Amino acid sequence: MARFIFITGGVVSSLGKGLMAASLAALLQARGFKVRIRKFDPYLNVDPGTMSPYQHGEVYVTDDGAETDLDLGHYERFTGVSARQTDNVTSGRIYQQIITRERRGDYLGATVQVIPHVTDAIKQFALAETDGLDFVLCEIGGTVGDIESLPFIEAIRQLRNDLGRDQTVFVHVTLVPFIAAAGELKTKPTQHSVKELTSLGVQPDVLVCRCEHPLPEAERAKIAAFCNVRKEAVIPALDAKSIYEVPLQYHGEGLDFEVLRAFGITPGLAPDLRRWHDIVDRLHNPEGEVTIGVVGKYVGLPDAYKSLNEALIHGGLANRVKVNIQWIDAELFDAPDSDVAAKLEPLHAILVPGAFGERGAEGKIQAIRFARERNVPFFGICFGMQMACVEGMRNLGGVPDASSTEFGPTQQPVVGIIEEWMSAEGIQKREAGGDLGGTMRLGAYPAKLAGNSHVAAFYGSTSISERHRHRYEVNVAYRDALEEGGLVFSGMSPDDLLPEIVERPDHPWFVGVQFHPELKSKPFDPHPLFASFIEAALRQSRLV
Ligand code: GLN
Repeated sequence: MARFIFITGGVVSSLGKGLMAASLAALLQARGFKVRIRKFDPYLNVDPGTMSPYQHGEVYVTDDGAETDLDLGHYERFTGVSARQTDNVTSGRIYQQIITRERRGDYLGATVQVIPHVTDAIKQFALAETDGLDFVLCEIGGTVGDIESLPFIEAIRQLRNDLGRDQTVFVHVTLVPFIAAAGELKTKPTQHSVKELTSLGVQPDVLVCRCEHPLPEAERAKIAAFCNVRKEAVIPALDAKSIYEVPLQYHGEGLDFEVLRAFGITPGLAPDLRRWHDIVDRLHNPEGEVTIGVVGKYVGLPDAYKSLNEALIHGGLANRVKVNIQWIDAELFDAPDSDVAAKLEPLHAILVPGAFGERGAEGKIQAIRFARERNVPFFGICFGMQMACVEGMRNLGGVPDASSTEFGPTQQPVVGIIEEWMSAEGIQKREAGGDLGGTMRLGAYPAKLAGNSHVAAFYGSTSISERHRHRYEVNVAYRDALEEGGLVFSGMSPDDLLPEIVERPDHPWFVGVQFHPELKSKPFDPHPLFASFIEAALRQSRLV
């Protein structure tokens, strides 16, 4: 039976609990164990799908079409294990299930309560589909002391009783702040956080202490004594320059060793960390540098483009180059007289990422036109591909009012709502003006690529599967006109209805994809499109 590692956070949010979970899972994997990571989100949204990227960062989409927390992206990038719908649950989803059952009369007249009904649902979620796994890591979102997280803490407390001491370990991530005026690291917030957690019945086995300065032995001993944890199990976690150094750093501090010890497992051979050493070597010893401009909408908050940012770095790893990303607000180019060239000329490549809504669309179209006319490598993702088609139709297809129905009614819907299509689950239907939550084309869909296309060469294959998250599609009715203008439809859905990839064979590198390749890129397995895009940027850097 799988063993469970429950991860909570204290003192403040943003301590990197998700990265800690991902790194610990990677270390256990490097010791030969089979792992899976799950995230419990205490908020009341049913899923993060309808939340603004400004509020919550990127929405991460799984193969099975779940819209999940961005931490699941870290989990996948660090372990290579594809996340599933069953790996992320929110309080909202749990309450929705319970209330639906209550309305159906499933509780047979019983009073429905947080304990046991909500806590049982949380426990079932943690335990489901864990056959064949050695470790299941469950990260609890939020900070200990939040009202919302109480049922989750209660559920993990019960699970320790249900499963036993040798099947469950509690890891608590806290902050040890440095007070500059006193010149000291302070352990009191950690003591308080652990006190709060123990008052809920959960005694942590391992403490991970985030700190900006090395933790002196005396402070470590003090934390151990006050928090009732062995001194070796107080793991200092200093800030790292790159997230990909974190697994090695945690290993150096003994995290995986202490977690295994807490289970009563004698750690065997040292983990095989060659993969992580290679990544860190590539990061620290680049042989060149490229600058990519990302012309987008949510550029104020890098978390909104988390996976994209990582995939570009992975493309750099593949080519052994450092990737500098310049985040450019598309609205800068909205005005017809804006100086696009001044901003874009110094760049080695341009990327227009996914987006929703009209704001910034004109600016993106200007940036795409610049990339096309100046032979600068261009990568359009989802909305970026849609706008590349609008740009092609407007400027080469002689249709100046080409547009997307996402922006309102139009006579020239180069991009529009598709109302019916086939998926593995059967026919899917959509209507304009329907619900926003959970009504997009979501998750993995297969596509076939033209044998003679650039993209087939990049992938080394003519059949691919990639993840989607969009409501609108490029309209195949415009295919001939767009192809006449040099924009070739080189990837299609198997039924030939949905354009998946467009490319310009006469351009150094111009590719638009309807899906989100960034979601599947890994540091140890960079996505072929990002590897090739960065290679093109490197060629461009030698020209400018
Ligand atoms: N807004 C567009 C659509 O819904 C693109 C979405 C995206 O870029 N993810 O189709």
